[in-house]
Amino acid sequence: MPDLLKKYKSMRDFGDTPEPSGGKPKKTKLPIFVIQKHAASHLHYDFRLEMEGVLKSWAVPKGPSYDPTVKRLAMMTEDHPYDYASFEGVIPAGNYGGGNVIIWDNGTWEFIEPGNDPVKAVRAGKLTFRMFGKKMFGEWALVKIHGRPGSKGNEWLLLKHRDEFANPDVDVTVLAPRSVVSNKSVEEIGSSKRIWLSNRGASQSGKNAPTVATKLEAEKKAAKKKATKKRAPASSPRRSARAPKKAASSPSRSSRAGSPRAAAPTPRRRPR
Ligand code: MN
Repeated sequence: MPDLLKKYKSMRDFGDTPEPSGGKPKKTKLPIFVIQKHAASHLHYDFRLEMEGVLKSWAVPKGPSYDPTVKRLAMMTEDHPYDYASFEGVIPAGNYGGGNVIIWDNGTWEFIEPGNDPVKAVRAGKLTFRMFGKKMFGEWALVKIHGRPGSKGNEWLLLKHRDEFANPDVDVTVLAPRSVVSNKSVEEIGSSKRIWLSNRGASQSGKNAPTVATKLEAEKKAAKKKATKKRAPASSPRRSARAPKKAASSPSRSSRAGSPRAAAPTPRRRPR
């Protein structure tokens, strides 16, 4: 089997960059994906899908858009090792891709079409897939295009298919700019004195990071609070009479969203 990471390794000095050199085993049933926000010489989003043991990678300058009429340029780059998905930190200046990196989103993905082999689909230049992330949901597509004469021949488009998640009014990169692992912005990662805070199990520590859903919910709540200036006390009689068996401190996210009057001012992470 050819070494898919040959190019990746040849471009880096692992004595000088904290980036992984490869080799961690996989843990999930579905293949994983990661989108890293990378403040290199030009800010971009590295879009990576696990396939044949590595992360197939595209650099998306503007990041993903939920507007199905918007097509985002995605430049295919070298395959990255599987464990690159947990990398967040600083690539020192002078190294390839020097700059700050945060894990902007992660999760799993599922190949839809064409055929049943995503590797073949990549080779043929077109694939559609479903994403199960914290910011990325629903059906997306990557389509190879013919770039301008003299281009490197690595130009693709990333686009959102029309489904229940498509939304022309929300810019997800603006709404949810932070890391799903550390909740830091790409600037804050750089100001930290610890330059390497990966190898922590990205998916586990990401459980408490805010999602798009929690952000939208928080914004809705803030707007409502502004409008009514009323607050239900945490242990109001109405609440305990209605749901006597439920622990007052652990309403589910959906029940909270569905009944705003019962929304106790539970301490939550700030939305920004
Ligand atoms: Mn990059």
